[in-house]
Amino acid sequence: MKYIEPHAHMVSRVTDDYERMALAGCLAVCEPAFWAGFDRSSPAGFHDYFCQLTEHEPKRAARFGLKHFCWLGINSKEAEDVKLAGEVIALVPNFLNRPNVLGIGEIGLNKNSRNELQVFEMQVDLAAKHDRLILVHTPHLEDKFKGTRLILDALKSDRRIRPERVIIDHVEEHTVEMVLNAGLWAGMTLYPETKCTPARAIDMLENYGSERLWLNSACDWGVSDPLAVPKTALEMAKRGHLAPAIEKVVLQNPLEFLRQSPSFKAAF
Ligand SMILES: [Zn+2]
Repeated sequence: MKYIEPHAHMVSRVTDDYERMALAGCLAVCEPAFWAGFDRSSPAGFHDYFCQLTEHEPKRAARFGLKHFCWLGINSKEAEDVKLAGEVIALVPNFLNRPNVLGIGEIGLNKNSRNELQVFEMQVDLAAKHDRLILVHTPHLEDKFKGTRLILDALKSDRRIRPERVIIDHVEEHTVEMVLNAGLWAGMTLYPETKCTPARAIDMLENYGSERLWLNSACDWGVSDPLAVPKTALEMAKRGHLAPAIEKVVLQNPLEFLRQSPSFKAAF
């Protein structure tokens, strides 16, 4: 089986994980800019992180034959300080034309605060100005429904944004339908404990079909599994899904969405 890992925080993983992913059939890994598990103290910290995502991580992936792409931006957990966020956002255009950059992400909301929403809109504006794809992080647990609603409203109010060029990640049973109905793509994040288990993700696929949906492992610095996507594909097979249906979710759908980015299209 071949697959694409469309959302993985590889800077948090050991090199052996790249090897295991390559052995499992991974062709490419896409890494959104994210919180480091602690707040960075200055824009310089983000500058170095963006260098890591655009220069160093692609080399580490290439050792195992994996293509590496990334998304750039400031995550919602560090977006409370609007001045810092503005300084970080000002850095992004300098990196946008690097060959592995897909677009702006992961941006979004964490606690649904006013400042987070302001920084989200600043980054949507950045994506619109540069005609880039957008990858959105949605809040967890009780804040998810309201946060997803706020995000969809903010995207809809910016007339430059085409819904088919935006993916809303970490959808769950109570948010997947509103995202798909709005014409956007939806990502299901497979975590061993929280977010979405493989069984829940497959239930959602069975209920809502597989148009504009993809699976990812996130595999950040927390409890997570870099092989969650191929393991879920195996689980789909056990539940009677045929190979073309599995391939659509783990390979064809990511290819379809990501090929809207010229840098991805050049590689696939
Ligand atoms: Zn993430």
